[in-house]
Amino acid sequence: MTVVVAGLALLAAGAYGARRAPATPPGLTGPGAGSVVHEKRALMGSIFEMSVWAPRGREPQAAESLREAMDATARMEAEISNWKPETEVSALNRAAGGELTPVGKHTRTLLERSLYWSELTGGAFDITGGPLFELWDAARKVKELPAVDEIGKRKALVGYRNITLQGDRAGLAAPGMRVGFGAIGKGYAADQASALLTARGFPDHIIDAGGDLVLRGSRGGEPWSVGVRDPRGNGMLAVVSATNCGLATSGDYERYFTIDGKRYSHIIDLRTGWPSRGVVSATVLAPSGMDADALATSMVVLGVQAGIRLASSLPGVEALLVDENRTTHTTAGWALDDGRLVRK
Ligand code: ADP
Ligand code: MG
Repeated sequence: MTVVVAGLALLAAGAYGARRAPATPPGLTGPGAGSVVHEKRALMGSIFEMSVWAPRGREPQAAESLREAMDATARMEAEISNWKPETEVSALNRAAGGELTPVGKHTRTLLERSLYWSELTGGAFDITGGPLFELWDAARKVKELPAVDEIGKRKALVGYRNITLQGDRAGLAAPGMRVGFGAIGKGYAADQASALLTARGFPDHIIDAGGDLVLRGSRGGEPWSVGVRDPRGNGMLAVVSATNCGLATSGDYERYFTIDGKRYSHIIDLRTGWPSRGVVSATVLAPSGMDADALATSMVVLGVQAGIRLASSLPGVEALLVDENRTTHTTAGWALDDGRLVRK
């Protein structure tokens, strides 16, 4: 079983890098016996895949818990999506420039953590970028650069400092402002699904929220292995074995467009209003899926130097960046060794 996702691929044990992978797959009998139960669903604009290691005989409960986790994610999406009109985030966006509106726990957590990352990245990460994301999305469709004055106009509507969060109410200072959790929401959803599965008695699982992963426990005693896709090739750049962490990849290899041979990413440097350049792929390991997601996007914007510097300053965070020349850069805790990302 090899599940290929956005920038990352979940690998069956021994499917890649066999030299150091454990030789024996989990047995079908004996104390470590069990199997991987799997479910896949379209959620939050991408494909969610969840895999649980279920001890033998508990597969039906695992399948039931997976359904529950998927349903919970769908309910969360109905609160935090910014493109479904009936959500509380859409209500918050519609009220921009006016009254504060009520926000539930998920939206509050996401707003708080987004503001935290905005501060720490000096605005490289900013959930108020909607006006510019839309402008560049439209540009990608017609393959034509937006007008420079239009970029300026929209940039004036961007700024995380104009978000107010007061208890269970939130507001946006100016009409036309909006927030969206496109760069952090899937990682958070993966955290939530992971917590639910653990609470249901399945602490060994891997959640792939469209390229934003949470890994927990093991696969019948063997580590989960995830492949990092080569951003400019078809193969794998590296394999990483990790657990009890979030793991995310962002980059320009999936959603981008070219004009005159120049590549334009879907990740926007909100400090300039233009698509970010320099880093073609950022893979980040962090204590949570939410942080890995937000950081992977941030690293793409920050660039190699500032990105590696920030990641190095954060406990439990490692990063692998690939630049335009396909040169790889890692934080001090990671080394790329013969196709495997290893902890130093
Ligand atoms: P993906 O959703 O492709 O896995 P990301 O997590 O990097 O990748 O999120 C990209 C999305 O986040 C964009 O489509 C856009 O909606 C939004 N976004 C783009 N640039 C930024 C940014 N600098 N800060 C916050 N969100 C961003
Ligand atoms: Mg992200």
